[in-house]
Amino acid sequence: MVTMDEIVSLCKRRGFIFQSSEIYGGLNSCWDYGPLGVEMKNNIKRLWWKANVQLRDDVVGLDSSILMNPKVWEASGHLTNFADPMADCKVCKKRWRTDQLSEYKCPECGGELTEARMFNLMFKTFMGPVEDESAVVYLRPETAQGIFVNFLNVQQTMRKKLPFGIAQIGKSFRNEVTPGNFIFRTREFEQMEIEYFVKPGTDEYWHKHWIEQRISWYYKLGIRKENIRIREHGKDELAHYAKACVDIEYLFPMGWSELEGIANRTDFDLSRHQEYSGQNLTYFDDETKQRYIPYVIEPSAGVDRSLLAFLVDAYENQKIDENDSRIVLHLHPAIAPVKAGIFPLLKKEELVKKAKEIYNNLKYKWIVQYDESGSIGKRYRRQDEIGTPFGITVDYQTLEDNTVTIRDRDTMEQVRVHIEEIIPYLEEKIEV
Ligand code: ATP
Repeated sequence: MVTMDEIVSLCKRRGFIFQSSEIYGGLNSCWDYGPLGVEMKNNIKRLWWKANVQLRDDVVGLDSSILMNPKVWEASGHLTNFADPMADCKVCKKRWRTDQLSEYKCPECGGELTEARMFNLMFKTFMGPVEDESAVVYLRPETAQGIFVNFLNVQQTMRKKLPFGIAQIGKSFRNEVTPGNFIFRTREFEQMEIEYFVKPGTDEYWHKHWIEQRISWYYKLGIRKENIRIREHGKDELAHYAKACVDIEYLFPMGWSELEGIANRTDFDLSRHQEYSGQNLTYFDDETKQRYIPYVIEPSAGVDRSLLAFLVDAYENQKIDENDSRIVLHLHPAIAPVKAGIFPLLKKEELVKKAKEIYNNLKYKWIVQYDESGSIGKRYRRQDEIGTPFGITVDYQTLEDNTVTIRDRDTMEQVRVHIEEIIPYLEEKIEV
Protein backbone atom coordinates (compact mmCIF):
# COMPACT_ATOMS: atom_id res chain seq x y z
CA MET A 1 0.00 0.00 0.00
CA VAL A 2 1.08 3.54 -0.71
CA THR A 3 2.55 5.48 2.21
CA MET A 4 1.43 8.94 3.24
CA ASP A 5 4.94 10.23 2.44
CA GLU A 6 4.60 9.03 -1.16
CA ILE A 7 1.25 10.82 -1.47
CA VAL A 8 2.57 14.04 0.08
CA SER A 9 5.60 13.95 -2.19
CA LEU A 10 3.57 13.38 -5.36
CA CYS A 11 1.17 16.17 -4.36
CA LYS A 12 4.01 18.64 -3.96
CA ARG A 13 6.04 17.48 -6.97
CA ARG A 14 3.14 17.63 -9.40
CA GLY A 15 1.26 20.68 -8.12
CA PHE A 16 -1.68 19.16 -6.24
CA ILE A 17 -1.05 20.41 -2.70
CA PHE A 18 1.55 22.71 -1.15
CA GLN A 19 2.27 23.65 2.42
CA SER A 20 0.54 26.93 3.29
CA SER A 21 2.83 29.99 3.55
CA GLU A 22 5.74 27.71 2.72
CA ILE A 23 8.27 30.48 2.11
CA TYR A 24 7.74 31.56 5.74
CA GLY A 25 8.22 28.05 7.10
CA GLY A 26 4.57 27.07 6.71
CA LEU A 27 1.69 27.11 9.17
CA ASN A 28 0.97 23.95 11.11
CA SER A 29 -1.61 21.73 9.38
CA CYS A 30 -2.61 24.32 6.78
CA TRP A 31 -2.39 23.37 3.10
CA ASP A 32 -2.88 25.10 -0.25
CA TYR A 33 -4.37 23.35 -3.25
CA GLY A 34 -2.23 23.91 -6.34
CA PRO A 35 -3.38 24.03 -9.98
CA LEU A 36 -4.11 20.29 -10.17
CA GLY A 37 -5.45 20.02 -6.61
CA VAL A 38 -8.02 22.74 -7.15
CA GLU A 39 -9.27 21.05 -10.34
CA MET A 40 -9.60 17.71 -8.58
CA LYS A 41 -11.31 19.29 -5.59
CA ASN A 42 -13.76 21.14 -7.84
CA ASN A 43 -14.52 17.88 -9.67
CA ILE A 44 -15.32 16.12 -6.38
CA LYS A 45 -17.58 18.96 -5.27
CA ARG A 46 -19.34 19.12 -8.64
CA LEU A 47 -19.91 15.35 -8.70
CA TRP A 48 -21.31 15.42 -5.16
CA TRP A 49 -23.59 18.31 -6.10
CA LYS A 50 -24.72 16.59 -9.27
CA ALA A 51 -25.60 13.33 -7.48
CA ASN A 52 -27.27 14.96 -4.49
CA VAL A 53 -28.85 18.16 -5.81
CA GLN A 54 -29.04 18.24 -9.61
CA LEU A 55 -30.30 14.67 -10.06
CA ARG A 56 -32.67 14.68 -7.08
CA ASP A 57 -36.05 16.40 -7.09
CA ASP A 58 -36.13 16.32 -3.29
CA VAL A 59 -32.88 18.18 -2.50
CA VAL A 60 -32.03 21.87 -3.03
CA GLY A 61 -28.80 23.77 -2.45
CA LEU A 62 -27.70 26.56 -0.12
CA ASP A 63 -24.61 28.68 0.52
CA SER A 64 -24.85 30.24 3.97
CA SER A 65 -22.32 32.54 5.59
CA ILE A 66 -19.41 31.36 7.72
CA LEU A 67 -20.00 33.95 10.44
CA MET A 68 -23.36 33.58 12.19
CA ASN A 69 -25.19 35.05 15.14
CA PRO A 70 -23.46 33.58 18.24
CA LYS A 71 -26.85 32.44 19.52
CA VAL A 72 -26.76 29.75 16.83
CA TRP A 73 -23.87 28.08 18.67
CA GLU A 74 -25.62 28.40 22.00
CA ALA A 75 -28.70 26.68 20.58
CA SER A 76 -26.75 23.98 18.74
CA GLY A 77 -24.84 23.11 21.90
CA HIS A 78 -21.44 23.87 20.39
CA LEU A 79 -20.59 26.54 22.96
CA THR A 80 -20.89 24.10 25.83
CA ASN A 81 -20.28 20.71 24.26
CA PHE A 82 -18.01 21.07 21.25
CA ALA A 83 -14.87 20.35 23.22
CA ASP A 84 -12.22 17.64 23.33
CA PRO A 85 -10.28 16.53 26.42
CA MET A 86 -6.58 17.29 26.17
CA ALA A 87 -3.49 16.87 28.31
CA ASP A 88 0.21 17.74 28.08
CA CYS A 89 3.17 15.44 28.54
CA LYS A 90 5.14 16.50 31.63
CA VAL A 91 8.39 15.32 29.99
CA CYS A 92 8.39 16.25 26.27
CA LYS A 93 5.59 18.85 26.52
CA LYS A 94 3.65 17.37 23.59
CA ARG A 95 -0.11 17.84 23.69
CA TRP A 96 -2.58 14.99 23.17
CA ARG A 97 -6.30 14.35 22.84
CA THR A 98 -6.80 11.96 25.71
CA ASP A 99 -9.94 10.30 24.30
CA GLN A 100 -7.80 9.00 21.43
CA LEU A 101 -5.13 7.37 23.61
CA SER A 102 -5.19 3.66 24.40
CA GLU A 103 -3.17 4.26 27.60
CA TYR A 104 -3.02 7.39 29.74
CA LYS A 105 0.62 8.24 28.99
CA CYS A 106 2.52 10.12 26.28
CA PRO A 107 2.51 8.03 23.07
CA GLU A 108 5.76 9.71 22.01
CA CYS A 109 8.03 9.34 25.06
CA GLY A 110 5.92 7.39 27.57
CA GLY A 111 6.00 10.36 29.98
CA GLU A 112 3.32 11.15 32.55
CA LEU A 113 0.44 13.36 31.37
CA THR A 114 -1.15 16.29 33.15
CA GLU A 115 -4.78 15.99 34.17
CA ALA A 116 -7.11 16.23 31.16
CA ARG A 117 -8.95 19.52 30.60
CA MET A 118 -11.71 20.31 28.11
CA PHE A 119 -10.83 22.52 25.18
CA ASN A 120 -13.49 24.15 22.96
CA LEU A 121 -12.71 23.65 19.27
CA MET A 122 -14.40 26.76 17.93
CA PHE A 123 -12.26 29.58 16.54
CA LYS A 124 -13.21 32.88 18.15
CA THR A 125 -12.83 36.31 16.64
CA PHE A 126 -14.33 39.80 16.95
CA MET A 127 -16.84 41.47 14.69
CA GLY A 128 -16.31 45.22 14.23
CA PRO A 129 -13.67 47.47 15.74
CA VAL A 130 -14.27 46.89 19.45
CA GLU A 131 -12.72 43.76 20.86
CA ASP A 132 -15.02 43.07 23.80
CA GLU A 133 -17.26 40.16 24.79
CA SER A 134 -20.28 41.55 22.95
CA ALA A 135 -18.33 41.50 19.66
CA VAL A 136 -17.30 37.84 19.85
CA VAL A 137 -18.25 35.71 16.83
CA TYR A 138 -17.16 32.22 15.84
CA LEU A 139 -15.99 30.67 12.59
CA ARG A 140 -18.48 27.89 11.93
CA PRO A 141 -17.24 24.42 12.96
CA GLU A 142 -19.74 22.78 10.57
CA THR A 143 -21.92 23.94 7.69
CA ALA A 144 -25.01 22.17 9.09
CA GLN A 145 -26.23 24.98 11.34
CA GLY A 146 -26.48 27.36 8.37
CA ILE A 147 -28.97 24.87 6.93
CA PHE A 148 -31.05 24.51 10.09
CA VAL A 149 -31.48 28.24 10.57
CA ASN A 150 -32.64 28.52 6.94
CA PHE A 151 -35.08 25.61 7.18
CA LEU A 152 -38.18 27.82 6.97
CA ASN A 153 -36.78 30.17 4.31
CA VAL A 154 -35.98 27.28 2.02
CA GLN A 155 -39.05 25.19 2.73
CA GLN A 156 -41.40 28.10 2.11
CA THR A 157 -39.73 29.74 -0.90
CA MET A 158 -39.21 26.40 -2.66
CA ARG A 159 -42.63 25.10 -1.51
CA LYS A 160 -41.04 21.84 -0.42
CA LYS A 161 -42.97 19.02 1.16
CA LEU A 162 -41.42 16.38 3.40
CA PRO A 163 -39.27 14.51 2.83
CA PHE A 164 -36.80 17.00 1.37
CA GLY A 165 -33.20 17.95 1.89
CA ILE A 166 -30.93 20.99 1.81
CA ALA A 167 -27.34 20.55 0.66
CA GLN A 168 -24.36 22.78 1.26
CA ILE A 169 -20.64 22.74 0.50
CA GLY A 170 -18.33 25.08 2.34
CA LYS A 171 -15.43 25.76 4.65
CA SER A 172 -15.52 24.85 8.32
CA PHE A 173 -13.00 25.57 11.05
CA ARG A 174 -12.03 23.55 14.12
CA ASN A 175 -9.17 24.30 16.43
CA GLU A 176 -8.18 20.61 16.52
CA VAL A 177 -5.86 19.62 19.38
CA THR A 178 -3.89 17.18 17.24
CA PRO A 179 -4.23 17.91 13.53
CA GLY A 180 -2.21 15.74 11.18
CA ASN A 181 -1.99 13.00 8.60
CA PHE A 182 -1.63 15.56 5.81
CA ILE A 183 -5.07 16.86 4.76
CA PHE A 184 -6.96 14.24 6.80
CA ARG A 185 -7.29 16.41 9.90
CA THR A 186 -6.73 20.13 9.52
CA ARG A 187 -8.03 23.22 11.26
CA GLU A 188 -9.57 24.69 8.12
CA PHE A 189 -11.36 22.24 5.85
CA GLU A 190 -14.30 21.86 3.53
CA GLN A 191 -17.48 19.89 4.15
CA MET A 192 -20.27 18.59 1.93
CA GLU A 193 -23.39 18.24 4.06
CA ILE A 194 -27.04 17.39 3.56
CA GLU A 195 -29.79 17.85 6.12
CA TYR A 196 -32.62 15.64 4.94
CA PHE A 197 -35.89 16.42 6.75
CA VAL A 198 -38.39 13.60 7.22
CA LYS A 199 -41.59 12.74 9.01
CA PRO A 200 -40.84 11.17 12.42
CA GLY A 201 -41.31 7.43 12.12
CA THR A 202 -39.83 7.31 8.60
CA ASP A 203 -36.38 8.31 9.85
CA GLU A 204 -34.91 4.80 10.03
CA TYR A 205 -35.92 4.10 6.44
CA TRP A 206 -34.26 7.31 5.23
CA HIS A 207 -31.16 6.74 7.32
CA LYS A 208 -30.64 3.43 5.54
CA HIS A 209 -31.39 5.07 2.18
CA TRP A 210 -28.67 7.69 2.67
CA ILE A 211 -26.08 5.18 3.84
CA GLU A 212 -26.65 3.19 0.64
CA GLN A 213 -26.64 6.30 -1.57
CA ARG A 214 -23.43 7.62 -0.14
CA ILE A 215 -21.53 4.36 -0.31
CA SER A 216 -22.57 3.82 -3.90
CA TRP A 217 -21.33 7.32 -4.76
CA TYR A 218 -17.80 6.35 -3.69
CA TYR A 219 -18.05 3.02 -5.52
CA LYS A 220 -19.29 4.65 -8.69
CA LEU A 221 -16.32 7.00 -8.67
CA GLY A 222 -13.94 4.10 -8.53
CA ILE A 223 -13.07 3.62 -4.86
CA ARG A 224 -12.23 -0.07 -4.36
CA LYS A 225 -14.85 -1.90 -2.35
CA GLU A 226 -12.32 -3.57 -0.06
CA ASN A 227 -11.09 -0.14 1.07
CA ILE A 228 -14.49 1.05 2.33
CA ARG A 229 -16.35 -0.17 5.37
CA ILE A 230 -19.21 0.88 7.58
CA ARG A 231 -18.90 1.32 11.30
CA GLU A 232 -21.93 1.81 13.45
CA HIS A 233 -21.48 3.97 16.55
CA GLY A 234 -21.95 2.17 19.85
CA LYS A 235 -24.45 3.56 22.34
CA ASP A 236 -21.61 5.04 24.44
CA GLU A 237 -20.24 6.94 21.44
CA LEU A 238 -23.51 8.45 20.20
CA ALA A 239 -24.13 12.14 20.73
CA HIS A 240 -26.93 12.43 23.31
CA TYR A 241 -29.44 13.69 20.73
CA ALA A 242 -28.62 11.18 17.98
CA LYS A 243 -30.66 8.04 17.56
CA ALA A 244 -28.07 6.34 15.36
CA CYS A 245 -24.86 7.18 13.55
CA VAL A 246 -22.85 5.32 10.96
CA ASP A 247 -19.37 6.20 9.77
CA ILE A 248 -18.19 5.38 6.29
CA GLU A 249 -14.55 4.52 6.86
CA TYR A 250 -11.70 4.32 4.37
CA LEU A 251 -8.48 2.37 4.69
CA PHE A 252 -6.07 5.35 4.72
CA PRO A 253 -2.28 4.73 5.02
CA MET A 254 -2.58 5.27 8.80
CA GLY A 255 -5.44 2.76 9.09
CA TRP A 256 -9.23 2.71 8.93
CA SER A 257 -10.53 6.24 9.57
CA GLU A 258 -13.73 8.24 9.11
CA LEU A 259 -14.47 9.55 5.65
CA GLU A 260 -18.07 10.54 6.23
CA GLY A 261 -20.62 10.37 9.04
CA ILE A 262 -24.33 9.71 8.50
CA ALA A 263 -26.43 10.49 11.56
CA ASN A 264 -30.07 10.32 12.55
CA ARG A 265 -30.25 13.57 14.55
CA THR A 266 -33.98 13.31 15.38
CA ASP A 267 -35.69 16.69 15.90
CA PHE A 268 -32.92 17.94 18.18
CA ASP A 269 -31.56 20.79 16.05
CA LEU A 270 -34.81 22.34 14.88
CA SER A 271 -36.30 22.00 18.39
CA ARG A 272 -33.37 23.79 19.93
CA HIS A 273 -33.48 26.58 17.33
CA GLN A 274 -37.20 26.93 17.92
CA GLU A 275 -36.57 27.23 21.64
CA TYR A 276 -33.68 29.71 21.38
CA SER A 277 -35.06 31.86 18.54
CA GLY A 278 -38.68 31.88 19.66
CA GLN A 279 -39.72 31.22 16.03
CA ASN A 280 -42.16 28.50 15.11
CA LEU A 281 -40.13 25.94 13.16
CA THR A 282 -42.83 23.30 12.89
CA TYR A 283 -43.98 21.89 9.58
CA PHE A 284 -47.64 21.56 8.61
CA ASP A 285 -48.36 18.16 7.13
CA ASP A 286 -51.14 18.54 4.52
CA GLU A 287 -51.99 14.88 4.56
CA THR A 288 -52.38 14.30 8.30
CA LYS A 289 -53.30 17.94 9.10
CA GLN A 290 -50.72 17.84 11.89
CA ARG A 291 -47.92 20.19 12.85
CA TYR A 292 -44.64 18.73 13.96
CA ILE A 293 -40.90 19.28 13.97
CA PRO A 294 -39.32 17.08 11.30
CA TYR A 295 -36.60 14.55 12.06
CA VAL A 296 -33.36 14.93 10.17
CA ILE A 297 -30.86 12.59 8.57
CA GLU A 298 -27.42 14.11 8.06
CA PRO A 299 -24.86 12.74 5.60
CA SER A 300 -21.74 14.78 6.32
CA ALA A 301 -18.61 14.29 4.21
CA GLY A 302 -15.24 15.99 4.05
CA VAL A 303 -14.02 17.31 0.70
CA ASP A 304 -10.37 17.06 1.72
CA ARG A 305 -10.72 13.57 3.16
CA SER A 306 -12.50 12.42 0.00
CA LEU A 307 -9.73 13.87 -2.14
CA LEU A 308 -7.13 12.07 -0.02
CA ALA A 309 -9.07 8.78 -0.29
CA PHE A 310 -9.36 9.13 -4.08
CA LEU A 311 -5.61 9.79 -4.36
CA VAL A 312 -4.61 6.91 -2.08
CA ASP A 313 -6.97 4.53 -3.87
CA ALA A 314 -5.67 5.52 -7.30
CA TYR A 315 -1.92 5.49 -6.62
CA GLU A 316 0.20 2.74 -8.12
CA ASN A 317 3.93 2.32 -8.48
CA GLN A 318 3.68 -0.09 -11.39
CA LYS A 319 6.43 -2.36 -12.59
CA ILE A 320 6.14 -2.66 -16.34
CA ASP A 321 9.10 -4.96 -17.03
CA GLU A 322 12.61 -5.68 -15.71
CA ASN A 323 13.90 -2.17 -16.42
CA ASP A 324 10.80 -0.07 -16.47
CA SER A 325 8.26 1.21 -13.99
CA ARG A 326 5.87 4.12 -13.76
CA ILE A 327 3.84 5.97 -11.14
CA VAL A 328 0.25 6.13 -12.26
CA LEU A 329 -2.92 7.51 -10.68
CA HIS A 330 -5.86 5.37 -11.77
CA LEU A 331 -8.34 8.17 -11.02
CA HIS A 332 -11.86 7.92 -12.39
CA PRO A 333 -11.91 10.16 -15.52
CA ALA A 334 -14.58 12.34 -13.90
CA ILE A 335 -12.28 13.06 -10.93
CA ALA A 336 -8.99 13.40 -12.83
CA PRO A 337 -7.82 17.05 -12.83
CA VAL A 338 -6.75 16.94 -16.49
CA LYS A 339 -8.91 14.94 -18.87
CA ALA A 340 -6.55 14.60 -21.82
CA GLY A 341 -3.02 15.40 -22.94
CA ILE A 342 -2.68 16.46 -26.58
CA PHE A 343 0.64 15.77 -28.26
CA PRO A 344 2.17 16.24 -31.70
CA LEU A 345 4.29 13.11 -32.24
CA LEU A 346 7.21 15.33 -33.27
CA LYS A 347 7.78 19.08 -33.09
CA LYS A 348 7.03 19.50 -36.83
CA GLU A 349 5.01 22.46 -38.01
CA GLU A 350 2.07 20.55 -39.57
CA LEU A 351 1.77 18.21 -36.59
CA VAL A 352 1.99 21.06 -34.07
CA LYS A 353 -0.65 23.05 -35.95
CA LYS A 354 -3.10 20.14 -35.98
CA ALA A 355 -2.49 19.23 -32.32
CA LYS A 356 -3.06 22.84 -31.25
CA GLU A 357 -6.29 22.91 -33.21
CA ILE A 358 -7.54 19.87 -31.31
CA TYR A 359 -6.36 21.34 -27.99
CA ASN A 360 -8.10 24.67 -28.65
CA ASN A 361 -11.30 22.84 -29.44
CA LEU A 362 -11.25 20.48 -26.44
CA LYS A 363 -10.48 23.19 -23.88
CA TYR A 364 -14.01 24.57 -24.25
CA LYS A 365 -15.26 21.34 -22.69
CA TRP A 366 -12.58 20.18 -20.27
CA ILE A 367 -9.27 20.99 -18.64
CA VAL A 368 -6.76 19.57 -21.10
CA GLN A 369 -3.01 20.04 -21.60
CA TYR A 370 -0.94 20.55 -24.73
CA ASP A 371 2.60 19.20 -24.50
CA GLU A 372 5.28 19.08 -27.19
CA SER A 373 8.43 18.74 -25.09
CA GLY A 374 10.41 15.52 -24.74
CA SER A 375 9.88 12.08 -26.21
CA ILE A 376 6.30 10.89 -26.59
CA GLY A 377 6.96 8.17 -23.99
CA LYS A 378 8.07 10.79 -21.42
CA ARG A 379 5.01 12.91 -22.17
CA TYR A 380 2.70 9.94 -21.58
CA ARG A 381 4.42 9.19 -18.27
CA ARG A 382 4.07 12.77 -17.06
CA GLN A 383 0.33 12.52 -17.63
CA ASP A 384 0.12 9.05 -16.00
CA GLU A 385 1.52 10.49 -12.80
CA ILE A 386 -1.21 13.12 -12.55
CA GLY A 387 -3.95 10.67 -13.51
CA THR A 388 -4.80 12.03 -16.98
CA PRO A 389 -6.98 9.27 -18.47
CA PHE A 390 -6.35 9.95 -22.18
CA GLY A 391 -3.36 10.81 -24.35
CA ILE A 392 -4.22 12.10 -27.82
CA THR A 393 -1.40 11.97 -30.36
CA VAL A 394 -1.25 13.63 -33.75
CA ASP A 395 1.05 11.74 -36.16
CA TYR A 396 1.68 11.69 -39.92
CA GLN A 397 -1.36 9.54 -40.56
CA THR A 398 -3.47 12.30 -39.01
CA LEU A 399 -2.50 14.59 -41.88
CA GLU A 400 -3.75 12.01 -44.37
CA ASP A 401 -6.99 10.73 -42.84
CA ASN A 402 -7.82 13.04 -39.90
CA THR A 403 -7.49 10.28 -37.32
CA VAL A 404 -5.50 10.45 -34.07
CA THR A 405 -4.43 7.83 -31.56
CA ILE A 406 -6.02 7.88 -28.13
CA ARG A 407 -3.97 6.12 -25.45
CA ASP A 408 -5.66 4.71 -22.38
CA ARG A 409 -3.76 5.54 -19.17
CA ASP A 410 -4.51 2.23 -17.42
CA THR A 411 -4.05 -0.32 -20.22
CA MET A 412 -1.61 1.86 -22.21
CA GLU A 413 -3.38 0.60 -25.33
CA GLN A 414 -4.11 2.90 -28.25
CA VAL A 415 -7.07 3.17 -30.58
CA ARG A 416 -7.38 5.25 -33.74
CA VAL A 417 -10.27 7.66 -33.70
CA HIS A 418 -11.46 10.24 -36.23
CA ILE A 419 -10.94 13.81 -35.02
CA GLU A 420 -14.67 14.42 -35.06
CA GLU A 421 -15.18 11.42 -32.82
CA ILE A 422 -12.78 12.59 -30.06
CA ILE A 423 -15.40 14.47 -28.04
CA PRO A 424 -18.09 11.76 -28.05
CA TYR A 425 -15.40 9.13 -27.35
CA LEU A 426 -14.12 11.00 -24.27
CA GLU A 427 -17.56 12.14 -23.16
CA GLU A 428 -18.79 8.59 -22.92
CA LYS A 429 -15.95 7.72 -20.54
CA ILE A 430 -15.81 10.93 -18.50
CA GLU A 431 -19.43 11.81 -17.79
CA VAL A 432 -21.19 10.12 -14.87
P1 ATP B 1 -13.32 13.06 13.65
O1 ATP B 1 -13.92 12.04 14.59
O2 ATP B 1 -12.37 12.49 12.63
O3 ATP B 1 -12.80 14.29 14.34
P2 ATP B 1 -15.93 14.05 13.40
O4 ATP B 1 -16.76 12.84 13.70
O5 ATP B 1 -15.74 15.10 14.41
O6 ATP B 1 -14.53 13.59 12.79
P3 ATP B 1 -17.96 15.25 11.84
O7 ATP B 1 -18.24 16.31 12.81
O8 ATP B 1 -18.88 14.09 11.69
O9 ATP B 1 -16.48 14.71 12.07
O10 ATP B 1 -17.70 15.94 10.43
C1 ATP B 1 -18.13 15.37 9.21
C2 ATP B 1 -16.98 15.18 8.23
O11 ATP B 1 -16.21 16.38 8.11
C3 ATP B 1 -15.98 14.12 8.65
O12 ATP B 1 -16.42 12.83 8.29
C4 ATP B 1 -14.76 14.53 7.88
O13 ATP B 1 -14.82 14.04 6.54
C5 ATP B 1 -14.85 16.04 7.86
N1 ATP B 1 -13.99 16.60 8.91
C6 ATP B 1 -14.30 16.79 10.22
N2 ATP B 1 -13.28 17.34 10.89
C7 ATP B 1 -12.28 17.50 9.99
C8 ATP B 1 -10.94 18.03 10.06
N3 ATP B 1 -10.45 18.51 11.19
N4 ATP B 1 -10.19 18.04 8.94
C9 ATP B 1 -10.69 17.57 7.76
N5 ATP B 1 -11.93 17.07 7.63
C10 ATP B 1 -12.73 17.03 8.72
